[in-house]
Amino acid sequence: MQAFAVLVVVTLTVVAAGLAVRTVGSMIKVVRLGQPAVGRTDRPATRTATMLRETFGHTRMLQWTLVGAAHWFVFVGFGFLFLTLVTAYGQVIEPSFALPLIGHWAPFEWLTEIIAWLMLVSIVVLIAIRQRHHPDRVGRRSRFSGSTMWQAYYVEWTIVGVGLCIVALRSLEYALQHVDGADPSWVHFPLTWFVGTAFDGLAVATLETAIVAVALFKIVISMAWLITIALNPTMGVAWHRFSVFFNVWFKRNATGEVSLGALEPMRSRGRPIDFEDPADDDVFGVGVVENFTWKGLLDFSTCTECGRCQSQCPAWNTGKPLSPKLLIMSLRDHAAAKAPYLLAGGGLDAEGNERATPEQLADVPASAIAEAARPLVGTLEEGGVIDPEVLWSCTTCGACVEQCPVDIEHVDHILDLRRFQVLIESSFPSEANSLLKNLESKQNPWGVQPSARTAWVGEVDFPVRVFGADGEDTIPDDVEYLFWVGCAGALDDRAKKTTKAFAELLHIAGVQFMVLGEGEACSGDPARRLGNEFVYAMLAQQNVETLNEVGARTIVATCPHCFNTLSNEYPQLGGSYDVIHHTQLLARLVEQGRLLPVTPVDELVTYHDPCYLGRHNKIYTPPREVLAGVPQLRTQEMHRCKERGFCCGAGGARMWMEERIGKRINHERVDEALALEPDVISTSCPFCLVMLSDSVDQRKAAGEVAESVGVVDVSQLLLRSVRTPAPTP
Ligand code: SF4
Ligand code: SF4
Repeated sequence: MQAFAVLVVVTLTVVAAGLAVRTVGSMIKVVRLGQPAVGRTDRPATRTATMLRETFGHTRMLQWTLVGAAHWFVFVGFGFLFLTLVTAYGQVIEPSFALPLIGHWAPFEWLTEIIAWLMLVSIVVLIAIRQRHHPDRVGRRSRFSGSTMWQAYYVEWTIVGVGLCIVALRSLEYALQHVDGADPSWVHFPLTWFVGTAFDGLAVATLETAIVAVALFKIVISMAWLITIALNPTMGVAWHRFSVFFNVWFKRNATGEVSLGALEPMRSRGRPIDFEDPADDDVFGVGVVENFTWKGLLDFSTCTECGRCQSQCPAWNTGKPLSPKLLIMSLRDHAAAKAPYLLAGGGLDAEGNERATPEQLADVPASAIAEAARPLVGTLEEGGVIDPEVLWSCTTCGACVEQCPVDIEHVDHILDLRRFQVLIESSFPSEANSLLKNLESKQNPWGVQPSARTAWVGEVDFPVRVFGADGEDTIPDDVEYLFWVGCAGALDDRAKKTTKAFAELLHIAGVQFMVLGEGEACSGDPARRLGNEFVYAMLAQQNVETLNEVGARTIVATCPHCFNTLSNEYPQLGGSYDVIHHTQLLARLVEQGRLLPVTPVDELVTYHDPCYLGRHNKIYTPPREVLAGVPQLRTQEMHRCKERGFCCGAGGARMWMEERIGKRINHERVDEALALEPDVISTSCPFCLVMLSDSVDQRKAAGEVAESVGVVDVSQLLLRSVRTPAPTP
């Protein structure tokens, strides 16, 4: 029996280890096919601390408390209980084997048993959760919809098997010590002695045979798992256990913030691109999978298919074909399938000719050659890896990035794909054409004359200082804030109400502010999120030059997209300013007593978090503080709020594209708000304001909503309270 067991163990272990080493080697080779990723190794000590905090602390997983806690015990079990596998190897040879030094040390035994039981309970919880959310039961809304279920089941039941083996072995060890006449103190078997008593009366030889058999079974289960994952390098549900440490370590921000806010500058082979004079071999965005950075390819390999991203995605939740999980899985599978071709030297040169010789490709499997021929973005008929409808459905809301437990940077990858489609293929939704033309010719999305930017100034009954009106060539020292009005704030009638309300509040508070007027151009956010880095660079460069020339220091913006671009992205172009959002300034002015909300606003308000203020910049509190300061105003949160807020549908330049598939995202959001029966839906973004208003107006036209329900900016509510009511005649 033992000789047979040893033979099986040695054979299996050698095969499993050999296959695993080979697969890890080829996975590393695939990741190394990617382009250089800039800025991923700075501050190594901080990165290590972040990685340890996120992995051992499960800080991202614990956003979902029960699942996070259960996964933590499985994670700890996987690491700590490896020692029981080592013990099992010894037990196959000598059933009474224990690890030297610690094998019979009570604290080690306690920990082993506690962790084994907790791991078992936890995996049962996770199995139950997966079944509760099974796509067959929940349908498309299941976060597991589209995940490779057999792989998850296999991993889950392997853990159950390993856990049961540990309990069985510990119980048999108890029984063996009992038969030997030694004191089988429960101190060494705190959570298995009662199972061990079931073996009372069995002979030593029987118990030893049972130990060898269970130890053998444990090793067989473990090695079968290793062989299975080695044969399936895209099995993220298993491989993430190893790759997550690297994926977190190399994330964008060393300190651990999620990869949102600023977009990565467009680079070619790790170098900045000079749009005025691009190099012949410059690559614009990602047109083939090997044009992703190696961090992108590592991201794809690390996806666990947990579907958290999918469950939060506004596109997926409204019936669009985009699921961030399925997108990442498609890119991962494509990269793995194409890898043999690339590793043999295959690929196209700048002229579109094959680089490799026929001899080099002679041994490449036909499936890899066929995979290489697929367009990265293309329809089903074209054999595309990513359907254009998938690519253009993204609002860049960042919910996927925020939720991903292994720090995958979906938005960066989606934008890289868009960049290639727009800049090289000129392939994007036709409606966006006019947006780009307007941005290029008139520096605003609506294509109105720049002179219209100051029209609102003539519509208010207090003075507004416009830069240059008094002949100044730099911002005067007494100006506290440069008010960046933004295109929507200056040109859209609904957003203009926010602009006027905020300006009036500044006037009431005695804040000295100035606007740039015609000197302001679009921040470039819509062009950049559409993928047109060229137009973005043109607008952004122009704005940075203007801001630097006028000596801008402290800027306040009502638009979170402008706020994000000016504060996070202009530094990439040499424009560093102190930028705040108007809700931050308003909260500060109320706190300082410079604004006194005294008039009661007896209304129920629900606040919608703009993605580019909330998730992208973590500003959740100031707007709520402003609302809380208004007397008698009652607030109620929507189910999806703050980090889990639901997009209005405007981001990612979606505001200028048709929404033809599924339910409109703004309707989905407004339905959620209206379920609370509010008097007012409030927000702090002009894009959100337009999207939510559109939806509410349509509901009103259909008679589904009372005419009195309003959609207003936080500043408008504050102004109503700050204004002293007119005395009654
Ligand atoms: S950014 Fe938002 S819309 Fe885009 S894939 Fe992620 S969750 Fe979906
Ligand atoms: S991308 Fe992240 S959140 Fe989405 S399925 Fe993969 S691991 Fe889960």
